[in-house]
Amino acid sequence: MSLNSPWRSDFPALSALSAEGQTYLDSAATSQKPQVVLDALMGYYASGAANVHRAQHLPGERATRAFEGTRIRATHWLNAASPAEILFTRGTTEAINLLAYGLEHLFQPGDEIVISALEHHANLLPWQQLAIRRQLKLVVLPLDRSGLIDLEQARQLIGARTRLLAVSQLSNVLGRWQPLTELLPLARAQGALTVVDGAQGVVHGRHDVQALGCDFYAFSSHKLYGPDGIGVLYGRGDALARLKHWQFGGEMVHSATYQSADFHGAPLGFEAGTPAIASVIGLGAALDYLGSLDAAAIAGHEAVLHTKLLAGLAARDGVRLLGEPELALASFSIEGVHNADLAHLLTEQGIAVRAGHHCAMPLMQTLGVQGAIRVSLALYNNGDDLERFFSALDKTLELLR
Ligand code: PLP
Repeated sequence: MSLNSPWRSDFPALSALSAEGQTYLDSAATSQKPQVVLDALMGYYASGAANVHRAQHLPGERATRAFEGTRIRATHWLNAASPAEILFTRGTTEAINLLAYGLEHLFQPGDEIVISALEHHANLLPWQQLAIRRQLKLVVLPLDRSGLIDLEQARQLIGARTRLLAVSQLSNVLGRWQPLTELLPLARAQGALTVVDGAQGVVHGRHDVQALGCDFYAFSSHKLYGPDGIGVLYGRGDALARLKHWQFGGEMVHSATYQSADFHGAPLGFEAGTPAIASVIGLGAALDYLGSLDAAAIAGHEAVLHTKLLAGLAARDGVRLLGEPELALASFSIEGVHNADLAHLLTEQGIAVRAGHHCAMPLMQTLGVQGAIRVSLALYNNGDDLERFFSALDKTLELLR
């Protein structure tokens, strides 16, 4: 299979970056955007910005139609039952904070929230802080050696006091699909709510929230080739009905007096204030773009690149891979070489990779490392990107060793 991405030319930033000598291998942090997304952003502003839902005039009606069009596209993308199950948030982080506040009233002291050892801070800290506020117990599911949540242990740890399970679908550090089809029923059997952090998972393949059987699923547009500042929280209708409102202001209120108010239900009741209208429209364009591509061809291309990435790392002395990544990325450190030095010298050679704790400090502690370098791939990467990375890595190691 060719290692050249047939989609690369759809992304103008790739040639701009390469003209600057930059090789972009940090798409798990954020992705580049296709021209159609840039056109949608420009089109909205150039044809007349207007607020959504409130204006009667033509630009307002046009903006509202485009904005709500994205909600319909997201509904189809995730196979949600209805557009009313799609809430726009600022991103995955805000979606999970919304849940931690909106569901707070359901918890009693001593109840348990279950997460896993590999969670991004976005799916750890909101629950940790809720646990502190309500005197709950935060239970952390351990991992096996390959980087999967250990199901045997999960069967022991998910129990009668479990009220909520929140886990990542695909780790941003370990690059493995988590066993959600086995895990989520364990929580459901206890009557607990289930939350899936889809920030990385949504980028790779199509996911059906009804088949997954989760109550909530969150993702960020900027990782899915869309604009930043916007994300989606899917909530199953009856799970959304249990949420209390958390941010108050325009748009979300049905009627108000000085002393009291009553609020819309989902979705508008959870979208207080003027939303990121252009970004929502841009996300719609990203979903249209992705929907027009051959998903199997994308997965095939990414798999070939990933194999090359793993083979290249395995061929170099002293590389310690974190877990056993199966797609999209690889995180590693190199014996006797400080990550910061490695990152610095790669950066000097125009290689854009991520270094550090990857917003998962407790995971780094569990793995016994200070941090790691992460190379992450997207549909627009070519084999050449990896060759440039490996030649920069070899030069760096020659210098440092
Ligand atoms: N969860 C995971 C697994 C992530 O990788 C990220 C971002 O890196 C997030 C959550 C947070 O996403 P955002 O910063 O877009 O809210």
